[in-house]
Amino acid sequence: RKDELRKLMDQPTVSQDGHRVELAANIGSVEDLQKVLANGAEGIGLFRTEFLYMGRAALPSEEEQFHVYKHVLERMEGKPVVIRTLDIGGDKELPYMKLPAESNPFLGLRAIRLCLDRQELFRTQLRALLRASVHGQLKIMFPMIAVAAELREAKRLLREEKEKLLREGVPVSESIEVGIMVEVPAAALAADMLAKEADFFSIGTNDLIQYTMAADRMNENVAYLYQPCHPSILRLIRMVIQAAAKEGKWVGMCGEMAGDQTAIPVLLGMGLHEFSMSASSILPARALIKRLSQRDWAAHTEQILSMDSQESIHAFVNQQTRSDF
Ligand code: PEP
Ligand code: MG
Repeated sequence: RKDELRKLMDQPTVSQDGHRVELAANIGSVEDLQKVLANGAEGIGLFRTEFLYMGRAALPSEEEQFHVYKHVLERMEGKPVVIRTLDIGGDKELPYMKLPAESNPFLGLRAIRLCLDRQELFRTQLRALLRASVHGQLKIMFPMIAVAAELREAKRLLREEKEKLLREGVPVSESIEVGIMVEVPAAALAADMLAKEADFFSIGTNDLIQYTMAADRMNENVAYLYQPCHPSILRLIRMVIQAAAKEGKWVGMCGEMAGDQTAIPVLLGMGLHEFSMSASSILPARALIKRLSQRDWAAHTEQILSMDSQESIHAFVNQQTRSDF
């Protein structure tokens, strides 16, 4: 089985009926790249940059960040690399930054909210990203977008920093895509509006499930509510994919769900374009997708979305994949 998987290393990800998707990797540091390259990733779908800021005494400088981003882009040799801007707050703290004490940190000043509040910190990261952009295929992604105004403001700051750099004679790529994570239910529900202003979406199911179910993703007492294949979650995902398709934008997923063998057939059927997961899940996912018919799973979508529980959906998927193979 290991040998079989190895054969898929340098192959594109194509379903049994010829539908192409992209399998990308999630990384948190440069050290993760080795595994990414050894597992046949077609790109990086999520670089969690907060790890650059954690476990140290001060903010990383623009220069330090520039070298990290450049290195990742170069190692990926022109393959798409989605770098997410800082997602701090929530449960992740920075000892050297005075963040307000909040009674509900996951509902507080987190990710893009914090970055728009601390603009100098944000502008430094944006400058480092823009400078690195000429070294590969960079896509910039903003986390925790809830309303379009946040995206507009983030894009305005990005535009300003780009213009400054160009005036200083620093080259910046002209083909950087700018997208958002869809991980707040409000963003999923207004995906049709956001799709007009974002180049792509990446669905962050870890948070989308937590916020939709109102259940802390780390709290074992409510772990039973953490259901990626619950119809409420699948309906939101489908809305997001359809809204993006109307505007000709692509949709990825970078939450844990993207690498889940039971969820993959459903997501493939709903038309998800990019699946980003931990490196070790990539080859098994590619092997699975090769055996699936995208057209057949698309035809199952309505029936799946009409089921009333994750258990019935899991049972359907398992029965169907057994009869497929
Ligand atoms: C997510 O929320 O699904 C996600 C990928 O981001 P993180 O796990 O870093 O919050
Ligand atoms: Mg998240």
